[in-house]
Amino acid sequence: MKRNIILMGPPGAGKGTLAKQLIALGYVHISTGDMFREAIKAGSELGKLADSYIKHGDLVPDEVTIGLVKERLSQDDCAKGFLLDGFPRTTPQAEALEKLTKEINRPIDVVINLDCDKNELVRRIGGRRVCKNCGAPYHIDTFKPKVDGVCDLCGGPLYQRNDDNEEALKVRLSHYTNQTKPLIDFYQERGLLANFDSLKGSEALFDEIAKFLKS
Ligand code: AMP
Repeated sequence: MKRNIILMGPPGAGKGTLAKQLIALGYVHISTGDMFREAIKAGSELGKLADSYIKHGDLVPDEVTIGLVKERLSQDDCAKGFLLDGFPRTTPQAEALEKLTKEINRPIDVVINLDCDKNELVRRIGGRRVCKNCGAPYHIDTFKPKVDGVCDLCGGPLYQRNDDNEEALKVRLSHYTNQTKPLIDFYQERGLLANFDSLKGSEALFDEIAKFLKS
């Protein structure tokens, strides 16, 4: 079983959906985006700082994000295997992660890269709704909740993220292309990369990846 995993792919590729499915296999889900949104909800200093970047689609500075992940990955529960979702997004983050995983002896086993066509990303992000309580993702056309505006899993209210708009998405996609996409080569060179096509349905994708992780 592959234990320590990075999920990579552009915004809208399905990292969050896949991560929520993989939790059932026992992984600890570490989403830097979720951590920042929690901090924003709590109104902390970190939240205020993160919000000033996130709402425009910009990346939160490396030193802040790296510090957050260092603290989280060193906690005891991560020993059973973790799923990094949305981190690393820049080369300095990937280098810091490489150093940290060596220090704490929790090496990355595989980097799952989700490929997705750009028009499909725009369609997915434009219609995305998220549960305010548990973060479960929905789509207004293709993945509706049973009751309009209410999360199937926890009954929480659904909302549209304030960075899921056209302006912020343009910025997010350009950060992805310029800063995050080069990490595909970074991990390819280290023999860690595994590519998957995110255009197949989320259930089929989960089955394929779950099998791969167990192999
Ligand atoms: P996500 O939920 O992964 O789409 O992240 C939402 C937003 O949080 C991103 O658009 C960034 O503004 C910020 N963020 C999340 N992860 C990182 C990261 N690794 N580095 C910098 N900013 C991040």
